[in-house]
Amino acid sequence: KEGLTKTRENFVGKIEEVFTGRKKIDEELYDELEEALIGSDVGVHSSLELVERLRKEVKKRKISQPSELNEVLQELIAELLGEEETLNFAEQGPSVILVVGVNGVGKTTTIGKLANRLKKDGKRVIMAAGDTFRAAAIDQLEVWGERSGIEVIKHREGSDPAAVAYDAVQAAKSRNIDVVIVDTAGRLHNKVNLMEELRKVKRVIEREIPGAPHEVLLVLDATTGQNALQQAKLFQEVAGVTGIVLTKLDGTAKGGVVLGIRGETQIPVKWIGIGEGIEDLRPFVPQDFAAALFN
Ligand code: GDP
Repeated sequence: KEGLTKTRENFVGKIEEVFTGRKKIDEELYDELEEALIGSDVGVHSSLELVERLRKEVKKRKISQPSELNEVLQELIAELLGEEETLNFAEQGPSVILVVGVNGVGKTTTIGKLANRLKKDGKRVIMAAGDTFRAAAIDQLEVWGERSGIEVIKHREGSDPAAVAYDAVQAAKSRNIDVVIVDTAGRLHNKVNLMEELRKVKRVIEREIPGAPHEVLLVLDATTGQNALQQAKLFQEVAGVTGIVLTKLDGTAKGGVVLGIRGETQIPVKWIGIGEGIEDLRPFVPQDFAAALFN
């Protein structure tokens, strides 16, 4: 519920406007609802889908009062979001989490938070500074490492990210590490290079640990709304994303994009970022999210 205030106001505010002051459920209501959903970054496809499902439920349950629709919609949204999905780990040996995303979305921060969280869960964690393009990214990861007492494997700025990944994986294998979290570059303006770099990093990891990476986490900035959706589609194609971390949900009214991402890409949102602090990362629980939106 924390951090969702603005989304709740925006999202449910718009929907309640559609439902209130109406005496019956008619085509106009469905049209307006569709518009309200699309305007809340839910995505065209998911908005149409939700309205379609709502129509069916209204018929099935013989609902006639617009005031009853809120509750049904909440159920349908929870359903659309699916079950809670947690991180995949190796059954034996080190697990590798590859973290991808465009610069500025909160990738480094997310890695710092996640590493800290996994360590608190009792896992032995190391981080790999794979965004070798930006010296600041390497430094920043080190700051997070110092905060939580987690080692960072790094090379010089401009070095080969695949070599950093290789070293991190070797270190993990020889030192009984449970989880390696690998940062990557996010220069979207050079799409071909980015894709090649990601593929190469992934290949090295796959070669060194069969079954790895166990997780390819895409970090998306909720405040960018439709852009986040576009990035999800792009990275899904390029990197085979297995889960999404949606950052900056605190203070944004665009939390509806959670629905869009799930509806348009089928990739589960696994974590949400709700602040800049080390503790501000939460597992994404669809039922709770849907409930928080409406209550
Ligand atoms: P990167 O370029 O993707 O590695 O992004 P950074 O991790 O450097 O984050 C960019 C900015 O977003 C920083 O100022 C972070 O403090 C901020 N940030 C990251 N995650 C969150 C979040 O969940 N909420 C808020 N409010 N800010 C965040």
